[in-house]
Amino acid sequence: PRVDNPYAGAKVYVNPEWSAKASAEPGGSRVANQPTGVWLDRIAAIEGVNGGMGLRDHLDAAVQQSGGQPLVVQLVVYDLPGRDCSALASNGELGPEDLPRYKAEFIDPIASIVADPAYANLRIVTTVEIDSLPNLVTNTGSRPTAVPACDKMKQNGNYVKGVGYALAKLGAVENVYNYIDAGHHGWIGWDDNFSASAQLFLEAAKAEGSTPANVHGFIANTANYSALKENNFTINDSVNGTSVRQSKWVDWNRYVDELSFAQAFRQEAVKVGFPSNVGMLIDTSRNGWGGSARPAGPGPQTNVDAYVNGGRYDRRIHPGNWCNQSGAGLGERPTAAPASGIDAYVWMKPPGESDGASKEIPNEEGKGFDQMCDPAYQGNVRNGNNPSGALADAPLSGHWFSAQFQQLMQNAYPPL
Ligand code: BGC
Repeated sequence: PRVDNPYAGAKVYVNPEWSAKASAEPGGSRVANQPTGVWLDRIAAIEGVNGGMGLRDHLDAAVQQSGGQPLVVQLVVYDLPGRDCSALASNGELGPEDLPRYKAEFIDPIASIVADPAYANLRIVTTVEIDSLPNLVTNTGSRPTAVPACDKMKQNGNYVKGVGYALAKLGAVENVYNYIDAGHHGWIGWDDNFSASAQLFLEAAKAEGSTPANVHGFIANTANYSALKENNFTINDSVNGTSVRQSKWVDWNRYVDELSFAQAFRQEAVKVGFPSNVGMLIDTSRNGWGGSARPAGPGPQTNVDAYVNGGRYDRRIHPGNWCNQSGAGLGERPTAAPASGIDAYVWMKPPGESDGASKEIPNEEGKGFDQMCDPAYQGNVRNGNNPSGALADAPLSGHWFSAQFQQLMQNAYPPL
């Protein structure tokens, strides 16, 4: 039987492979014992890539770490057909029509491994298919942000079917806790996207034999940089009679940070038909925004833009920027039940692993080059035609990026 909040009263699995990379960095031992997500980002990751740990190796190590006490293992299930349709940095190995392979070669083997009775005492959290359903909401159809590859995945239904299949198969295992990816406030927080996302998630939760009962909750901000809580302004503030919603930064969004977004999204999900006890996770791996650029107090009340820009912790050029953001820091350390409706703050994206290469790098992982990872790129409609804000000299997505890890530690908030 599942508990309401798997993180409550439980330790969380420390991935020895990530931990070793973090410890090898100067100063890295300060965070190397933190739990991070284990990404199943290709079929080969189930058995282990290049001699590395596979899923069974992680679960065996988790049983050891648990010492018979409750322990959460965090898996990221990430290999949909036509993956990462609005960007190129994390395009995957499966083509848009490869749903049968996704089911038979990816989800089925994962489901059979996690169902092994040897792992029955672990609490296995799965975060299901990052970015996929949100992309179908915002980057399709008549929207100016539409991308042909996302239209294709909407038409063929393979994101919805793939997510439904994953939820059904994994949800059939009693100690698995499925969380669907819900993007972040600077994506799903606008009126056009908010309820539409909850509705689409419900459709996916009912696809391929799944039911909403297979969904334990949602995760916000996975691998993103949106601040947890902007203390220097709220969505209800105005300056000289003008709402902060009219500032360039907020741009009519309903939310200014992840905590307010996640709490509201939880309620919306329940409203559209998810179980009333769904919980939220927030990825705080890289949304600390500390260091010398962190504002000490609210911005000046000269106009809304000065007020918001002077006070915001999130120092990105634009909230649509997502690749290896310059100036970011480690966020809140992983914590269980930190706020109402929130099951945990987690580090689902392992800090120090790149979001994408800053120039073309030939590879056999199916990963493309996305200009949003090039510091010289001047942007597109999805980031308001702003510079990318990315760090230079980044390796392929998922590969270790030492310079970024050093900056994340330096700008950690709370500080290390
Ligand atoms: C990459 C994955 C990687 C993950 C975690 C994603 O952007 O596409 O290959 O495992 O990040 O670092």
